[in-house]
Amino acid sequence: MAKLLPFQREKNLIGGEWIDADSAGTIEVTNPATGEVIGTVPNCGAAETKRAIEAAQKAFEGWRATTAAERADKLRKLAAALEKNKEELAVLLTTEQGKSLAEARGEVGISAAYVLWFAEEARRVYGDTIPSPWANRRILVTKEPVGVVAAITPWNFPSSMLSRKLGAALAAGCTVVTKPATQTPYSAIAWGLLAEEAGIPPGVINILTGSATQIGGEMTANPLVKKVTFTGSTEIGKLLMKQASGTMKRVSMELGGNAPFLIFDDADLDAAVEGAIGSKYRNSGQTCVCANRFYVQAGVYDAFAEKFAEAVRDLKVGNGLEPGVTQGPLIDEKAVEKVEEHIADVLAKGGRVVTGGKRHALGHSFFEPTIVADVTPGMKVAKEETFGPLAPLFRFDTEEQAVAMANDTEFGLAAYAYTRDLGRAFRVMEGLQYGQVGINAGVITTEVAPFGGVKESGLGREGSKYGLDDYLNVKYGCIGL
Ligand code: ADP
Repeated sequence: MAKLLPFQREKNLIGGEWIDADSAGTIEVTNPATGEVIGTVPNCGAAETKRAIEAAQKAFEGWRATTAAERADKLRKLAAALEKNKEELAVLLTTEQGKSLAEARGEVGISAAYVLWFAEEARRVYGDTIPSPWANRRILVTKEPVGVVAAITPWNFPSSMLSRKLGAALAAGCTVVTKPATQTPYSAIAWGLLAEEAGIPPGVINILTGSATQIGGEMTANPLVKKVTFTGSTEIGKLLMKQASGTMKRVSMELGGNAPFLIFDDADLDAAVEGAIGSKYRNSGQTCVCANRFYVQAGVYDAFAEKFAEAVRDLKVGNGLEPGVTQGPLIDEKAVEKVEEHIADVLAKGGRVVTGGKRHALGHSFFEPTIVADVTPGMKVAKEETFGPLAPLFRFDTEEQAVAMANDTEFGLAAYAYTRDLGRAFRVMEGLQYGQVGINAGVITTEVAPFGGVKESGLGREGSKYGLDDYLNVKYGCIGL
């Protein structure tokens, strides 16, 4: 087994103590670029989760009583710790997740940006006074932290998905029990070390790895937990929401995407190609806001396909730690099979491969960045999120048709459109039933803007001034004079 990397801790954190699983042993973690086992993490279950929740509840009494300025100070120190250790954290992230080192550095950078943003927002949790209908009573509205928060995160952004939950929760005065994805646990466990470095009190952040059903089951059933925040698949999101309803917990859900990307005849094609590359191939196509369906107007269909293919051929596939690599491996074999299934379905129903189309010569879970053309609405890629480096090109004639096809999905997370017509830009932005729309922009996530979806893509918003709302209860006080 390989030597441990900086910040790679093979333990869990409960109430400030680094622990092993009670009895269920450990789980191996693999580097997807090499297939090598890089270490183990504890295989915790319901009992450890119950203890972590109790530790978080105990810590909540102290943490909620701190001033906003004190919490802001700790969060600034946490952001500084992320920045200071960016290189080590990025190497750890690439080693367990596969993305290129440049993207991993970017992810750690945005984690720090989210934490810093919430450090600033912590001091702006304002209330209200409301003109009273009674002469002898006053009406106040204040905001209070909801309490212990359970946070479950996915493997595609193992650091930043946690940052926008942790940052908001801690700023609001909540404490957290978190469970990262089993494929990528170390970037989450590292937050425990960073929290120690920042002087965040024991029990404010608790971290568990292990059985998803046991940990998730306890998190959603335990009455001490007041909120569940989840990023992952729509299927598991629905399950957790059902489970959380037993004790009426608040929930935030960041779920599946199936993002459309529209290119109109009047688009700047070079800009559209640049946006398409960023939107589709970042993290090898494994982001929930990745373009999943490209709708190209008939007049530029062939020209766009050609330019796009040229840019895709320039992408460099390889181990994310190697210089110049832009495309790491997919997370696992199952992910590769899904891409293969979608390509086979396109070919069986009359589509064609423009570039790529198969597993990469490097083996493991590497896949060639792929474009397929002559794609039609009856194919699987129209309905299902591929979550891999596959760009399917659909053809359309009119704006109405494009917006209708783009909206023909149960998902509603992110959408993109390229046009130089100002009226069309607004019509399309307003017509797309999505929580986030990029017009002439393919990568739009930033800590200052609200991230989140509509329809079956979820509930709640993360980041921005709206990102604290999900962690606060509104209290109405009526004061008789
Ligand atoms: P993906 O298919 O992308 O892995 P999932 O929704 O399965 O997405 O996983 C996202 C997160 O949810 C991971 O941390 C995973 O371990 C966790 N998870 C999966 N199943 C459950 C469950 N039944 N209860 C709680 N968490 C779960």
